[in-house]
Amino acid sequence: MVYESINPYTGRRLRRFATLGPAQLERRLARAHRAAAQWRATSFAERAAVLHRTAELLRARQDELARLMALEMGKPLRDGRAEAQKCASCCDYYAAHAEGFLADEEVTTDGTRSYLSYAPLGVVLAIMPWNFPLWQVVRFAAPALMAGNVGLLKHAPNVPQCALALEKLLHDAGVPPTAFQNLFITNEQVAGLLADDRVRAATLTGSERAGAAVAAAAGQHIKKTVLELGGSDPFIVLADADLALAARTAAQARLINAGQSCIAAKRFIVEKPVVREFTRLLVSHLRQLRYGDPLADTTDYGPLARPDLANQLATQVADSVALGAKVELAGGQPHPGSTRFDPLVLSHVKPGQRAYAEELFGPVALVLTARDAADAVRLANDSRFGLGAAIWTQDVAQAERLARQLENGAVFINGLVKSMNELPFGGVKKSGYGRELSYQGIREFTNHKAVWIK
Ligand code: NDP
Repeated sequence: MVYESINPYTGRRLRRFATLGPAQLERRLARAHRAAAQWRATSFAERAAVLHRTAELLRARQDELARLMALEMGKPLRDGRAEAQKCASCCDYYAAHAEGFLADEEVTTDGTRSYLSYAPLGVVLAIMPWNFPLWQVVRFAAPALMAGNVGLLKHAPNVPQCALALEKLLHDAGVPPTAFQNLFITNEQVAGLLADDRVRAATLTGSERAGAAVAAAAGQHIKKTVLELGGSDPFIVLADADLALAARTAAQARLINAGQSCIAAKRFIVEKPVVREFTRLLVSHLRQLRYGDPLADTTDYGPLARPDLANQLATQVADSVALGAKVELAGGQPHPGSTRFDPLVLSHVKPGQRAYAEELFGPVALVLTARDAADAVRLANDSRFGLGAAIWTQDVAQAERLARQLENGAVFINGLVKSMNELPFGGVKKSGYGRELSYQGIREFTNHKAVWIK
């Protein structure tokens, strides 16, 4: 296990960091445990002031944060700045609303008074991925800190400088250094933390494999987890949709973060009468996007974050083509080992092909033909994943009926699926469980305590 920054655009190694030894990790954990008792005793107003300062610093440092993301995982600068701003808005949101979200809730019972109170759990371990190196962490940290919890972060090994920059920013904003700590640790050390009674819960964003491993270890020690895992989001286009807008949004939705997003639209399920025209428009939009250095302002999409991820994607595509998928736009890797991966479109995607069943974590769009709206829902639900979904049609009433039939954590009608502070975010099936964001997200790591008075 090595924590190191390697620029995926140039292949140059930038920095390397040692993992913590056992004694160092024990000291950090003991400090976090002590901090939990102190931080929970602060008022909402005190914590809100710290979170508002965090938001200010995220905005003030957006250029340097964007540069780090570009260097470590290939995100274009303007997307990195947008990510820092989104994090700032999440901090402001919880600073403003946490107290209301966690206020006592009166319940009518046979007692004179009964209510629910929401108490912090204590130390929460967050295991996070590299694709949105700031956002994934802040989406956890802002509500957790506002609820009075303390955070330990185990970030992905390829974004260590992002992890350190965010840790420093939180401390500069006034979060006590022991109330949020970044840990460069191995997966075995993660297992040790999950076994330790001082760690009360864990959250993981990442692959199904990682989620299953962490949830199994946490379960062994009766510990709550929230899992935000992969997705293969359907994007349903019915025959009466505004095709031009749907196709433009489709290209944007697939290329978010060079396609490395759990809620990127991945399966474009199109009603038969419009499938040829939709595919033509989608291909033409994708062709216009410019590959380049993430540090250049003109770049639309940069490299994938690591060569092994690009190699794996290329193999998933090749295996699918060998079993009958048709290439509508020939992108992909220029050569094995390259992190460059140009947008690629496949049609004739059928059960039995990897593209049909697996998550494609990069800029590969799948076009599937649906006989009618019911067939579109059947295809959308024929997936192990259930994160987001989009439906495009002029008939909003019909879209709402279809939305109820979809097995997904969110459905966006005539719009791009995105995470928003106000809406719960999470999935069903192999996309995970639990919710982040909104009032539901902040309550995940609280003790919903029932109080009854005679
Ligand atoms: P991983 O899921 O392996 O990594 C995500 C995080 O989980 C990392 O911090 C990783 O650390 C950690 N992790 C993995 N296994 C364990 C474990 N057993 N115990 C503790 N922590 C663990 O993602 P990859 O980078 O390998 O990407 C592989 C695939 O995962 C992608 O192609 C994509 O399909 C999916 N993915 C989904 C994301 C999402 O947003 N839902 C984000 C990233 C990936 P470490 O690397 O040190 O093991």
